[in-house]
Amino acid sequence: MTQNSGKIQTKNGGKKEKEYSIEWIQKTCTIEYKGEIKDRAILKWVPFINTLGETAIQITGWLSVILSVCIFFIVLPTLPENLYLMLLIASVCLSFFIVGLGLFSYVKYVKATRCKICNKNYAYEETANPDVREVSTENSYTVAITRYWKCKRCGYIDSDESPEDIVTRKGKIKKPKRIICEKCGKSGIYPEYKTPDIKSNESIYTRIRYYKCEYCRHINIEVEKAYSGEDSSGWESKGSDPRL
Ligand SMILES: [Zn+2]
Ligand SMILES: [Zn+2]
Repeated sequence: MTQNSGKIQTKNGGKKEKEYSIEWIQKTCTIEYKGEIKDRAILKWVPFINTLGETAIQITGWLSVILSVCIFFIVLPTLPENLYLMLLIASVCLSFFIVGLGLFSYVKYVKATRCKICNKNYAYEETANPDVREVSTENSYTVAITRYWKCKRCGYIDSDESPEDIVTRKGKIKKPKRIICEKCGKSGIYPEYKTPDIKSNESIYTRIRYYKCEYCRHINIEVEKAYSGEDSSGWESKGSDPRL
């Protein structure tokens, strides 16, 4: 057991909405925090969502993508040569394409909003911010999001837990590096305390590395993010906040 065993370290002290907790038991690290209620504004524009649920999302998504590609490659070349008109049509195509692709990320969410009691599609509304729980061991790393629902048709209260679209895996340990301990302020060259964690959500990658201070035994967390793929040059240091 380490000195940190079972101890809860709470970050961003004072600001309750930004609070998160980290608990260590040997090399297993559990991080808990509040997530965000999903923004459903774009779903207002999806026809038949109340009757077809996630199928309406898939149909609208595919139609938007196919329509934008057809207009761009078939209609656009036949138009008279007017730069402004072409730019306007091209930007409309691009918007439809992006919105269409973006809709696919809502499929699992809308599927989860079907009421277990009255069986109506897209009937649940979120009643509170979701709880996010990340568990990292030496060999595994999982993220689970618990959302809280109330059916707007029959009033049934429900919750569900899933990783949603977050993909997680373990990374590779790299060379020891100099760390300034955030707790005691002393610096030293340390190897990684355990294998790093990598999660990705909508093409944003987050990598978390752990370094244990040899003076005060505090485990320092180092977070990096990559916004355009995972190649080694794309990672930026993002402090010590491990949340999504
Ligand atoms: Zn219901
Ligand atoms: Zn220290």
